[in-house]
Amino acid sequence: GQRLEGKRALVTAAGQGIGRASAIAMAKEGAEVFATDVNMELLSTIRDQNLENIRIFELDVRSNDSVKKGIAQAAPDILFNCAGFVHHGTVLDATDAEFDFAIDLNLRAMMRTIRAALPGMLERGSGSIINMSSAAGSIIGAPNRFIYGTTKAAVVGLTKSVAVDYVKQGIRCNCICPGTVESPSWHDRVTALGKELGSYEAAMAQFVARQPMGRVATAEEIAALVVYLAADESAFTTGHTHIIDGGWSGQ
Ligand code: NAD
Repeated sequence: GQRLEGKRALVTAAGQGIGRASAIAMAKEGAEVFATDVNMELLSTIRDQNLENIRIFELDVRSNDSVKKGIAQAAPDILFNCAGFVHHGTVLDATDAEFDFAIDLNLRAMMRTIRAALPGMLERGSGSIINMSSAAGSIIGAPNRFIYGTTKAAVVGLTKSVAVDYVKQGIRCNCICPGTVESPSWHDRVTALGKELGSYEAAMAQFVARQPMGRVATAEEIAALVVYLAADESAFTTGHTHIIDGGWSGQ
């Protein structure tokens, strides 16, 4: 189907994982997609999909100039803020530098892109903003995710605030809260935990066991939720956490 026909969508962190899968899924639904990432080598692999309606350019969500330039070029009706980084450890492990980095990349970056994209959306009288949160944070506390959970919980507050301020002007703002999702960076985390536990298989088992379904999600399963929130069929939902976690927090 062409559920996103006539819409322009900008995706951050589309080089791999959920961002990449979502850019592809939105393009297949007919959107004009602007797939962006700070890593052009990764991002350029999306060309393998042979989707004419995906354009790519470099966008570093940590830079105001880069964000302003990219948003001006795309003039998006749909903004998917996907960029984020997972730090490992407790409050006692966390350094100030790691905390500042995560606040900037996982949270402040969303303020940057939304500030840049909202005026155009308001002019056109419509827009759907989708922010990447996580089940780990405000939905459920995950062990050794102090910095990550803190920033992802803050994304929920940011989302609700934007949603309530613009609900009467055709703008929707939702966030998605996935459980564990198969992606390149997740494989790095399994490898790192495997070194700690002495076996890769034990680490994999621990990650899988978090989901009562007994598996992790595919990036495509998360992309399907992104498409739904981007499309007009979700017109009645705003300001919400959309949880997709294989039953992790639903027990
Ligand atoms: P990933 O972590 O494998 O890839 C991250 C991408 O972000 C890379 O392409 C990287 O180049 C890009 N990036 C890094 N810094 C950037 C910057 N400054 N500007 C633009 N792009 C930048 O992908 P993933 O695991 O699918 O994670 C994507 C998002 O989903 C993150 O916000 C993550 O926290 C969230 N999430 C992931 C999981 C999971 O289990 N994988 C679960 C819940 C939420």
